Amino acid sequence: MRCPNCGYEDEGNYCSNCGSPLNQPAATAPEKGLRWYERCPACRAGRLSKTVSRGFLGLTTTESYSCPNCGAVFTREGSRTFKLSNISDTSRPAWRDCANQTLSDEEWKRIADGGVSDARQRELNLDHLITAVREGQIPPLNAAAPGSIVPKKGERLVATIPAVTLSEPRSVRETHGGGAGPSVRIAKGVYIRTGGFASRSESHEEIRSIDSGTLTLTDRRLVFAGQKRTTSVNLGKIISIKPCEDGIAINREGKQKTEYYSGLDNAVLRFSIEGRDYEEPLSGAFFARLIEGLLKTD
Ligand SMILES: [Zn+2]
Ligand SMILES: [Zn+2]
Repeated sequence: MRCPNCGYEDEGNYCSNCGSPLNQPAATAPEKGLRWYERCPACRAGRLSKTVSRGFLGLTTTESYSCPNCGAVFTREGSRTFKLSNISDTSRPAWRDCANQTLSDEEWKRIADGGVSDARQRELNLDHLITAVREGQIPPLNAAAPGSIVPKKGERLVATIPAVTLSEPRSVRETHGGGAGPSVRIAKGVYIRTGGFASRSESHEEIRSIDSGTLTLTDRRLVFAGQKRTTSVNLGKIISIKPCEDGIAINREGKQKTEYYSGLDNAVLRFSIEGRDYEEPLSGAFFARLIEGLLKTD
């Protein structure tokens, strides 16, 4: 059946996507004016009752709210925060999602009304953003600062990232072993040592940083303006983009070497979804999705 809350197609008693009860859509309708403990956030049926217990020597007190219906216990942790510390049936979605979590009374109230915690909401909104971006629906991100490049007519700035490091692989050759005697190069990468033991030569790649500058993404180009060099790559010339730690690795037409841009997390992504404002350091994964999305809408 279809989840009345999120529309997810599922079976069983609870939606495995959002945790809403599948057979009682009425129970998830928000009720205005209720205090958070007046409807149990875990089972959405019981009313929590408050108990204050004195600790050893009577020096401390613990305030908790428990549900007679599902056995959920919420312990006061701060002036307006409560921890879900126990439940009878640990297979309940509320326990699976919120076991031992300390949330505000507002969040518990929202969960009782079929909603989710702030942290979960953030995850859902970020997932939503990434999906939209991948499809090429790029919302205003406010990661773009003017002034770094001159946009061409009709070109839209998407992101400007300061202090980005450009690195490229360089091959480093090492020769191991071998006895005395001059070495003679017979072919690229193969050396023979005369008059001594055979030796082998290995070359491996090292990623070396070669420049730092500002990386600008527009809806058409990726522009790196460094201290030593400036490159402007049409997005259509990009063969592959791979996220790596705090950056991306790009292969493009007409360039054999992979280019690594790191330090993308110097930029903060600001955006709002459904009236909620977010600030996230830019990640390589997100940046790669942005480029994929822009390529789709090309
Ligand atoms: Zn659902
Ligand atoms: Zn309950």
